[in-house]
Amino acid sequence: MAKIHILDEHIANQIAAGEVVERPASVVKELVENAIDAGSTKIDVAVEEGGLQSIRVTDNGNGIDPEDCETAFYRHATSKISQGRDLFQITSLGFRGEALPSIAAVSKVRLVTSNTQDGRGRLIEIEGGNLKANEETAAPQGTDFVVKELFYNTPARLKYMKTIQTELGHISDYMYRLALSRPDIAFTVRHNGNTLLQTLGNGDLLQVIAAVYGTQSAKAMKPIKAENMDYTISGYISRPDWTRANRNAMSFIVNGRYIRNYGLSQSILRGYHTLLPINRFPLTVLKFDMHPSLVDVNVHPSKLEVRFSKEPELFAFAEEEIRKVLMQEVLIPRPAKQS
Ligand code: ADP
Ligand code: MG
Repeated sequence: MAKIHILDEHIANQIAAGEVVERPASVVKELVENAIDAGSTKIDVAVEEGGLQSIRVTDNGNGIDPEDCETAFYRHATSKISQGRDLFQITSLGFRGEALPSIAAVSKVRLVTSNTQDGRGRLIEIEGGNLKANEETAAPQGTDFVVKELFYNTPARLKYMKTIQTELGHISDYMYRLALSRPDIAFTVRHNGNTLLQTLGNGDLLQVIAAVYGTQSAKAMKPIKAENMDYTISGYISRPDWTRANRNAMSFIVNGRYIRNYGLSQSILRGYHTLLPINRFPLTVLKFDMHPSLVDVNVHPSKLEVRFSKEPELFAFAEEEIRKVLMQEVLIPRPAKQS
């Protein structure tokens, strides 16, 4: 008798949830990335008890077509790519179609969305992957997503959650990076009613840096802007005397996506050369833009890690441009002229 069978969608979603939804911050990240992909100019995030009790993300983006609302919760259901070759040209933050089914599998979800301005929208309720409601409702254009009781049906995962402060720390960390990556979007982040972050959405990155790291830090920043055939780099780097004890405040945004990359941070540090005190790290917010074919974002479900196809060239470019900015400031002594 055959012993191998394909798991039903319900179990498959719970398994995928284990990868995609590690903690409340992953839910925040996925929902806010969806809001960004929907072209929103205003995104409000409100969490209760470190996101374990509730996470709400409200946007003013395109909204979801009523006919698509249920489909959006199927695995591998996405509006963002359709062909294999699209994978090499990713321009959206999402593309795997895994977030909504994974989140809905391990929580209680309420979605209200409208893709028109006539005030008519759709309400969807799902509990632990089971559809509870799909009906018409009044709604402004945009999407309002509420996720309650995360991991209520996966006690093992729930037990693994850290304190509310720790979970909140992960959430604000993500939100800071997202806000830094999109100064053109107005973000608010609230926890138990208290405002943690508010940005204006006027496109001024330095103002976002001030909102995230404080005005003193913003004052210590130097602008950077350069391009070569393949890459453009822009953003801000701190004066070498304005440093931190770890590299957490070195942010990299590649084609609008916040990423982590050890090699890139090493090349920035090389750019500072000997100007940094030992074991101290600068504050940097650096945006790199390149043709989508030069970067592979399909490395891990969280998409925090990417692969560059011309890595040495990118690293050399970054190092060189950092050094130039610091030299302009006459911070690095130039070699004495031969007489
Ligand atoms: P992905 O983002 O990888 O496409 P998701 O599971 O996160 O997959 O979302 C599935 C689909 O639901 C998206 O492709 C998009 O069409 C739609 N969607 C989700 N959130 C929003 C939102 N806030 N606004 C508009 N559409 C959304
Ligand atoms: Mg998504």
